[in-house]
Amino acid sequence: MSSAACIFCKIIKGEIPSMKLFENDTVFAFLDIGPLSKGHSLVIPKYHGAKLADIPDDQLTDILPTLKKLITATGATDYNILQNNGTIAHQQVHHVHFHMIPKPNETEGLGINWPAT
Ligand code: C5P
Repeated sequence: MSSAACIFCKIIKGEIPSMKLFENDTVFAFLDIGPLSKGHSLVIPKYHGAKLADIPDDQLTDILPTLKKLITATGATDYNILQNNGTIAHQQVHHVHFHMIPKPNETEGLGINWPAT
Protein backbone atom coordinates (compact mmCIF):
# COMPACT_ATOMS: atom_id res chain seq x y z
CA MET A 1 0.00 0.00 0.00
CA SER A 2 1.41 3.38 -0.96
CA SER A 3 0.09 6.89 -1.40
CA ALA A 4 0.62 8.72 -4.69
CA ALA A 5 0.97 12.07 -2.93
CA CYS A 6 3.40 10.92 -0.23
CA ILE A 7 6.99 12.13 -0.57
CA PHE A 8 8.40 9.08 1.25
CA CYS A 9 6.42 6.70 -0.98
CA LYS A 10 7.99 8.51 -3.95
CA ILE A 11 11.45 8.03 -2.39
CA ILE A 12 10.75 4.29 -1.94
CA LYS A 13 9.73 4.04 -5.60
CA GLY A 14 12.79 6.01 -6.75
CA GLU A 15 10.68 8.85 -8.14
CA ILE A 16 12.53 11.23 -5.81
CA PRO A 17 16.27 10.63 -5.32
CA SER A 18 17.65 9.73 -1.91
CA MET A 19 20.88 8.52 -0.34
CA LYS A 20 19.67 4.97 0.18
CA LEU A 21 21.38 2.98 2.91
CA PHE A 22 19.32 -0.20 3.06
CA GLU A 23 16.20 -1.75 1.60
CA ASN A 24 14.35 -5.04 1.94
CA ASP A 25 10.77 -6.21 1.43
CA THR A 26 9.31 -4.10 4.23
CA VAL A 27 11.72 -1.26 5.07
CA PHE A 28 13.70 1.49 3.36
CA ALA A 29 16.51 3.49 5.01
CA PHE A 30 18.18 6.66 3.77
CA LEU A 31 20.11 9.71 4.93
CA ASP A 32 17.96 12.57 6.17
CA ILE A 33 18.02 15.47 3.69
CA GLY A 34 18.31 17.97 6.56
CA PRO A 35 20.59 16.20 9.03
CA LEU A 36 20.74 17.29 12.65
CA SER A 37 24.15 15.57 12.82
CA LYS A 38 26.40 13.60 10.51
CA GLY A 39 24.81 10.23 9.83
CA HIS A 40 21.26 11.34 10.70
CA SER A 41 19.20 8.76 8.89
CA LEU A 42 15.61 7.58 8.59
CA VAL A 43 14.07 4.11 8.58
CA ILE A 44 10.60 3.88 7.10
CA PRO A 45 8.16 1.03 6.54
CA LYS A 46 7.31 0.58 2.87
CA TYR A 47 3.67 0.29 3.90
CA HIS A 48 2.16 3.77 3.82
CA GLY A 49 0.64 4.96 7.05
CA ALA A 50 0.84 8.31 8.77
CA LYS A 51 1.23 7.14 12.35
CA LEU A 52 2.74 4.12 14.06
CA ALA A 53 -0.64 2.67 15.02
CA ASP A 54 -1.63 2.67 11.32
CA ILE A 55 1.06 0.12 10.38
CA PRO A 56 0.34 -3.63 10.55
CA ASP A 57 2.57 -5.52 12.98
CA ASP A 58 4.16 -7.64 10.25
CA GLN A 59 5.35 -4.49 8.48
CA LEU A 60 7.23 -3.30 11.57
CA THR A 61 9.40 -6.29 12.43
CA ASP A 62 12.45 -5.16 10.43
CA ILE A 63 12.46 -1.58 11.75
CA LEU A 64 14.55 -2.09 14.91
CA PRO A 65 17.12 -4.40 13.28
CA THR A 66 17.55 -1.80 10.52
CA LEU A 67 18.05 0.97 13.07
CA LYS A 68 20.76 -1.19 14.65
CA LYS A 69 22.46 -1.52 11.24
CA LEU A 70 22.52 2.28 10.89
CA ILE A 71 23.98 2.70 14.38
CA THR A 72 26.75 0.25 13.49
CA ALA A 73 27.32 1.92 10.11
CA THR A 74 27.84 5.37 11.58
CA GLY A 75 29.92 4.11 14.46
CA ALA A 76 27.76 6.20 16.74
CA THR A 77 28.22 5.45 20.42
CA ASP A 78 25.62 7.95 21.58
CA TYR A 79 22.46 8.50 19.58
CA ASN A 80 18.77 9.27 19.72
CA ILE A 81 15.98 7.24 18.13
CA LEU A 82 13.05 9.56 17.49
CA GLN A 83 9.63 8.91 16.04
CA ASN A 84 7.01 11.67 15.81
CA ASN A 85 3.28 11.04 15.35
CA GLY A 86 0.94 13.85 14.36
CA THR A 87 1.28 17.55 13.75
CA ILE A 88 1.09 18.46 17.43
CA ALA A 89 3.99 16.05 18.01
CA HIS A 90 6.00 17.88 15.29
CA GLN A 91 5.57 15.28 12.56
CA GLN A 92 6.27 17.00 9.24
CA VAL A 93 6.15 14.05 6.84
CA HIS A 94 3.03 11.97 7.33
CA HIS A 95 4.53 8.59 6.52
CA VAL A 96 5.86 6.73 9.56
CA HIS A 97 9.61 7.22 10.01
CA PHE A 98 12.18 6.54 12.69
CA HIS A 99 15.06 8.97 13.05
CA MET A 100 18.49 7.68 14.02
CA ILE A 101 20.42 10.75 15.16
CA PRO A 102 24.06 10.30 16.18
CA LYS A 103 25.15 12.80 18.81
CA PRO A 104 27.53 15.25 17.12
CA ASN A 105 30.28 15.19 19.73
CA GLU A 106 30.50 11.42 19.53
CA THR A 107 30.54 11.03 15.75
CA GLU A 108 32.46 14.05 14.50
CA GLY A 109 34.73 12.93 11.71
CA LEU A 110 32.89 9.66 11.19
CA GLY A 111 30.73 8.93 8.19
CA ILE A 112 28.63 6.16 6.87
CA ASN A 113 30.51 2.87 6.60
CA TRP A 114 28.18 0.68 4.64
CA PRO A 115 27.38 -2.19 4.67
CA ALA A 116 27.53 -2.59 8.41
CA THR A 117 29.57 -5.53 9.63
O1 C5P B 1 9.70 13.65 12.23
P1 C5P B 1 9.50 14.69 11.16
O2 C5P B 1 8.29 14.43 10.31
O3 C5P B 1 9.54 16.09 11.70
O4 C5P B 1 10.79 14.56 10.23
C1 C5P B 1 10.74 14.57 8.84
C2 C5P B 1 12.15 14.39 8.35
O5 C5P B 1 12.14 14.05 6.99
C3 C5P B 1 13.00 15.66 8.50
O6 C5P B 1 14.15 15.37 9.31
C4 C5P B 1 13.38 15.98 7.06
O7 C5P B 1 14.68 16.53 6.94
C5 C5P B 1 13.27 14.63 6.38
N1 C5P B 1 13.06 14.65 4.93
C6 C5P B 1 13.96 13.98 4.10
N2 C5P B 1 13.77 14.00 2.75
C7 C5P B 1 12.74 14.64 2.22
C8 C5P B 1 11.81 15.32 3.05
C9 C5P B 1 11.99 15.30 4.42
O8 C5P B 1 14.92 13.39 4.59
N3 C5P B 1 12.59 14.65 0.87
